[in-house]
Formats: sequence, structure tokens, C-alpha cells
Amino acid sequence: MLAFLWMPMNQTTAGRQNNRWHKPGTDIATWPKRKQQRMKLYSCAKCQNLLYFENSVCLNCGSPVGFNARKLSMVTLVAGNDKVLADISNPDETWRYCDNSAFAACNWLIPALHKTGYCIACDLNRIIPDLNNAENLDKWRRIETAKHRLVYSLLRLQLPVASKEGEEEAGIAFDFLADTNPQKKVMTGHDKGTITLNIEEADEKLRVKHKLDLGERYRTLLGHFRHEIGHYYWDVFFKTNNHALLDFRKKFGNESADYANALKRYYENGVPPDWNNHFISPYASSHAWEDWAETWAHFLHMMDTLETAYSFGLAVNPRKAKDAQQLQANMSQDPYTIGNFDEIIKLWLPLTFAVNNLNRSMGHQDFYPFIISPEVIEKLRFIHKQVYNFSPVA
Ligand SMILES: [Zn+2]
Ligand SMILES: [Zn+2]
Ligand SMILES: [Zn+2]
Repeated sequence: MLAFLWMPMNQTTAGRQNNRWHKPGTDIATWPKRKQQRMKLYSCAKCQNLLYFENSVCLNCGSPVGFNARKLSMVTLVAGNDKVLADISNPDETWRYCDNSAFAACNWLIPALHKTGYCIACDLNRIIPDLNNAENLDKWRRIETAKHRLVYSLLRLQLPVASKEGEEEAGIAFDFLADTNPQKKVMTGHDKGTITLNIEEADEKLRVKHKLDLGERYRTLLGHFRHEIGHYYWDVFFKTNNHALLDFRKKFGNESADYANALKRYYENGVPPDWNNHFISPYASSHAWEDWAETWAHFLHMMDTLETAYSFGLAVNPRKAKDAQQLQANMSQDPYTIGNFDEIIKLWLPLTFAVNNLNRSMGHQDFYPFIISPEVIEKLRFIHKQVYNFSPVA
């Protein structure tokens, strides 16, 4: 019997309007529009101290703070009765922390009168690790940190984010599982909206071991989530849209090729020597679905990192380079508001080149161990277009 702790509260609570696909006419009316500029750098409304996305208290003035997923910003709070907190800037808005804050696993807020105890990110959890095992709490917190960043990006991209409660077919569910049988390892993967993560990936030593064993240049919890959710959005974009599917095939190949055989071939024969010209990673060469998921994850890496660079007002202006002009970039626009993908690439390449050099100065490996070929840029452009043209069906 698997020793997982079920969280039935997620499934049994009523009133789930927060979990519906966000679309015009429902609560998306208050959702930030893409053209509005947002910044992921937050500050305390009481003392202006800078806050991290994960903070639940301002380290300067001690005020409770939390993340408002509707406005996609941090809120400074004043504690009231019965765990209700008021927005210090707007006392009529009252909030509670998501129930997972009791485990220091979430700092997102829910409206004080909300009928469920979970925020939009935690509502997607179906199985969390067994917290009777002391090591699992630490792993789960790392997992949640990564998952919340993922959900933030999805909300910024205005993609549908709904739990399987009430959206059984269409929704998303996360199962965070531990190995209990050495003969049958839990496989990280996606199946019809359910994303399974083997929680050993939250063990730093094991994660690095897997990375080295598999010869990967990049392996993170956030990367896993971004990859697996890519499979989910493949279904959303293409499963019932033949026109879009044909466009997909032009860029990524035919996904109807036998998946099991393709993976077998990949693990037996390795990667084609010129994979770099066509794919973002060796694994992306295994099958069109994996190519999509790997490239999708990369797209999310780019958007999130560029947003942070924009928040800090970074600019790259190399003093010495033959082609210095090509390496100049000024992060002066929120990348989520940029409709022209060429502009994103123009910012991305100088930024990653500069940060790689910063890492090397510290003796670290490259922050960005990738080379994007023109073919991969076209795949990324295709993803950007899909996301920006996407409008959920009512
Ligand atoms: Zn403060
Ligand atoms: Zn939460
Ligand atoms: Zn995959």
C-alpha cells in the first residue's frame, strides 16, 4: 500500500469558482490584462523593503505579507481576528493565507470569505508527500516553491489554470509521490492533466546525481514542472484543433509516431550528432511531444527570467566586442507585454551571454547552458504565437 497522505480537503470543498478556467465574463474580468505592466520585484507597502516572491513576512518591519494571485502582486497585511488579515493599502480587502501556509509551503492569499482553504496553486495538488516522514516536509516545500513559480507564469500568460475538481477532463492535478517499491520507481510525467513528480527530485544530492548520470546540462524542479505542464498545454492547444495541429507538425514533426518506440530508440541509440541544429536539448529529439515540452519549458524559462531582469532594470552594454551592438540590450519592457518575438530574442541572447560570464567569474557553471539554433528560435516563436493568440473556449 502506498503511504501517501491524501489531502481530501482539496477534493471535497464546495464553491470552486476560483478554479474555473479563467475566461472573460468570469473572474478574469479582474485579471491583469497582458498589456498592463507588472513587475515581479515587490516591496512592502509599509516600509518599502524589497520582498521575495516567497516571503510571508517583511524582514524589515515584521508585517505579514502574502501573494495576491488575482493582482499578481505581494500584499502587506495587518492581522485581525480569526486569521483574517486586511490589506494595509486597502483595508476593505480581507484575506486569509492558503491552508498550506501552516506548513510554510505557501504564502499565497485567498479572499477571507472564500469557501475553500487553498489558493489557486495549491488547489491543483491531489497527493502531497507523507508528512509523517520528517524529510518529506523539506522536499515538499522545495516542490511548492517551484510549482508556485510555474503557476505564476501560467497566470501571467493568461493560460487556463483549473483543478480537476469540476473540470475532471480539462483540469490539472499534481501527484507528488515517493518510491515505495524499489522494483517500481515512480516516474515523473504527465497523463491527461495529471502531473506526477517523484519527490526524490527535491533531494539535491539525488537531483545532481540524476543530472550527471543522464549527462544533462540543466535539471531543476522548476524545469520538470515547466516541461510536464507543456504536455498539458499541448492537449489544450492541439488536441481538438486540427488546423493548429497541422501547424504544429510543420514545426515539431508528427506526434502520431509511436511514442514508446521513439523513446526506446532514443535511449538505445542516443541522439543524432547534429541535434543542436534542430532541438533545444538532446531529449527533445526523442519524439515530437518531447520536443514541444522541452521547447515549451524553455519558453517559460525565458519569460520568467526576462521579467526578473526587467524588474531590476538590467541592461547589457559590453565595452569590448567586435559586434558590441548586437550584444546590447536594455530590459526596458515587461516581456509579457511584448508581442514581437524577435524583440524577446534580442533581449534574451545578450542577457544570457552576460550572466554566463558572471557565473564563470564566480567559478560556477553556465547559468544558461544552451545554444538556440535558428530552427529552435522558430519553434519558440510558434509557442509564443500560440500562447498570445489563445483564447479559452467558453
Ligand atoms: Zn515592511
Ligand atoms: Zn497555497
Ligand atoms: Zn515529457
